[in-house]
Amino acid sequence: MSTILILGGTAEARALAARLVDAGEDVVSSLAGRVSDPAVPRGQVRIGGFGGVDGLRNWLSDNNCRALIDATHPFARRISANAGVAAADSGLPLIRLRRPAWTAGPGDRWIEVDDMAGAAAAVAGRGRRVFLTTGRQDVGAFAGITDAWFLIRVVDPPLPPLPPHHTVLRSRGPYHLDGERKLLRDNAIDLLVTKNSGGAHTRPKLAAAAEAGIEVVMVRRPPPPAHGVQADTAEAVLDWLAQLP
Ligand code: NAP
Repeated sequence: MSTILILGGTAEARALAARLVDAGEDVVSSLAGRVSDPAVPRGQVRIGGFGGVDGLRNWLSDNNCRALIDATHPFARRISANAGVAAADSGLPLIRLRRPAWTAGPGDRWIEVDDMAGAAAAVAGRGRRVFLTTGRQDVGAFAGITDAWFLIRVVDPPLPPLPPHHTVLRSRGPYHLDGERKLLRDNAIDLLVTKNSGGAHTRPKLAAAAEAGIEVVMVRRPPPPAHGVQADTAEAVLDWLAQLP
């Protein structure tokens, strides 16, 4: 039996790993090792970077890999780009599992921007009490904003520099509507900043913001990587695997 490598770090990757383990596949899930206490997928797990494209290509060959599944977060651009190049170089089938992006509905007041610099520009002059949920690696983009207070929600402590007025709230989803409503109310939030991560685990903050008439600075996803088949469900990945030679 040859190995299937899942590039993970997402709830979808964990769910897929469990399905493949149950199906008797030889699966290895790979985590970047960014968070101190990661949710660990079922089956075999390896943790840490591969050492760029060359390292990933070597890993695929050394482990007799038959398929590569990129189920990383839609904003994890570097590992996805590396996966595309390594799979192409190795002649290995590659599929990308991406949860669908969120779309604005009635009541949503979104200001869509292309990147964190755009998000910081949108915050300046717009919000005074900002709920920042972009993740620990992206807080620095807001460090120069001195006239707003930020509630920074992160799993692990944010990487400096931080904006001068802030409170760090460490927690891990999934989140629920009642809790998100209370958080917005208790902290008198008047602006939410988020990436368009998609998925259900962190969606309730958007519903709570819409209910309260709070604007949302929404960072659009980067363009999808060029290589590989695209899938948005575990079923589509299983179907794809089943038809591989
Ligand atoms: P990134 O910028 O695309 O990747 C930076 C480097 O980290 C990669 O070049 C690779 O190092 C290593 N890496 C990333 N994901 C890896 C994985 N699954 N297994 C092994 N090495 C990995 O990634 P990122 O945005 O920092 O995200 C890191 C991880 O957190 C990803 O697995 C992603 O699914 C998860 N995550 C990201 C976000 C987000 O907003 N970006 C949110 C939730 C979860 P080498 O070049 O040395 O191989």
